[in-house]
Amino acid sequence: GSIKTGTDVVVIGAGPGGYVAAQRASQLGLDVTLIEREELGGTCLNHGCIPSKALISVGDLLYKVNNAAERGLVVKGSVEVDFAKTQEWKETKVIKRLTSGVASLMKAGQVEVVKGTARFTDPHSLEVELNDGGTAAYTFKHAIIATGSTAVNPSFFPLDGENVVDARGALAFREIPPRFVVVGGGYIGVELGIAYAKLGSKVTIVEATGQLLPGTDPDLVNVLMRRLRRLGVTVMLNARASGGLQNGKVKVQDGEGKVHEIEADKVLVSVGRVPYTEGLHLDKAGVRVDEKGFIPVDEQMRTNVPHIYAIGDVCSPVMLAHKASAQGRVAAEAIAGRPSAADWQTVPAVIFTDPEIAYVGLTEAQAREKGYDPVVSRYNFAAVGRALTMGESDGMVKLVGDRQSGLLLGAQMVGPEVSELIGEIALAIEMGAQMEDVALTPHYHPTLSEGILEAALSWMHSIEKAG
Ligand code: FAD
Repeated sequence: GSIKTGTDVVVIGAGPGGYVAAQRASQLGLDVTLIEREELGGTCLNHGCIPSKALISVGDLLYKVNNAAERGLVVKGSVEVDFAKTQEWKETKVIKRLTSGVASLMKAGQVEVVKGTARFTDPHSLEVELNDGGTAAYTFKHAIIATGSTAVNPSFFPLDGENVVDARGALAFREIPPRFVVVGGGYIGVELGIAYAKLGSKVTIVEATGQLLPGTDPDLVNVLMRRLRRLGVTVMLNARASGGLQNGKVKVQDGEGKVHEIEADKVLVSVGRVPYTEGLHLDKAGVRVDEKGFIPVDEQMRTNVPHIYAIGDVCSPVMLAHKASAQGRVAAEAIAGRPSAADWQTVPAVIFTDPEIAYVGLTEAQAREKGYDPVVSRYNFAAVGRALTMGESDGMVKLVGDRQSGLLLGAQMVGPEVSELIGEIALAIEMGAQMEDVALTPHYHPTLSEGILEAALSWMHSIEKAG
């Protein structure tokens, strides 16, 4: 194959980490090569964030239409789902548009895009197995590893690629499975479980711990649990599925040791994701990984080999697209000699369940651990006018502030559109806002954001009362 010498930066992987890093590096005048063996956009655009939200929105629409009798919408007969059409819309009008947008950005930035699989040959060169056949060799001054993560394929419930699938498989179903079992109650499993439940599947979610969405504030999860009951989703906690799908059944052992057989047409196994560096030959470049396979980095995203960087899912267990992109910008700027660093106060987390869950910053317990004197205020969406006009009054806003300094430390929310509302709090925390700043900012009426305003006002009031 050909040899291209002395590229300033090669980026391996074109997910939200890699393509953003490539774009930023090119804006800074660097000569950039981006290598991707599948589609531009990575997991996020092709098999993760975007397709999942597309199916969730279609499920929501159907559910809303079918559940608005109280508001005077009468469905005569039933609303049919043409799922092949849904999938075609998702593929062409959503994913394809976004991935072509990434292709245009790369072109505009004169980023050389190479379709193939990269592997290091030494600390300054790599080889690409081209998708079109043959190989190409590159030498580089800097490399950014953005190879992402992959779903765990557990030995207790192995994937078969057809009826037992990971999220990628579940997003690509050609038909809505009449009976759908989800093994693993993390955000991916619960989001997809709800989406298919709304589209008509009979859904069972099996979670090994005592709570869905392990690690999430139980106050938020309780609201979700009530909605899941209303949606007819069965949730089995402290329960373990094993042995795969056999004769259309999944064996689940509950907390008391009793074994249940659950009928299923399709099973989603979503029990975690692991960093992906297979076949990359990191050893040839001298890049170290930790015991879990993540690539450790400093605050400028540098690995132990100073001219090689790593960003996104491959370098930390907090696997979020916006974090990968922000890290990509930091790595590109560091390579260009700028003093950028990954020093965010906080990265927001959103779960696109129904209702949605969003949080940022510290919970009450975390604030106490850090030595603050946290005061928490709550405001229910049942008292927010806009929420009632939307027929979406379940949920609440919780704000955590420090009694002494008045600093806003965190927010936990469950309710309508909290995925959008969380941005206000993330910005406020980044800017070091006090609760008073939020309370004194006019929020438009009637909007859902008044839930945040009211929680901040009630926080101020409780401090006043306490003297
Ligand atoms: P990736 O997006 O995984 O991209 C890595 C790319 O590298 C891939 O395209 C891969 O083909 C390529 N690659 C790997 N090895 C090589 C090689 N040797 N040579 C060439 N190319 C290679 N995050 C959110 O923030 N919000 C969400 O709502 C959300 N929803 C999700 C839903 C699902 C179902 C899933 C699975 C994930 C979701 N995520 C979400 C997580 C998000 O997708 C990831 O955090 C994000 O994609 C990580 O970006 P990345 O650039 O690190 O890696």
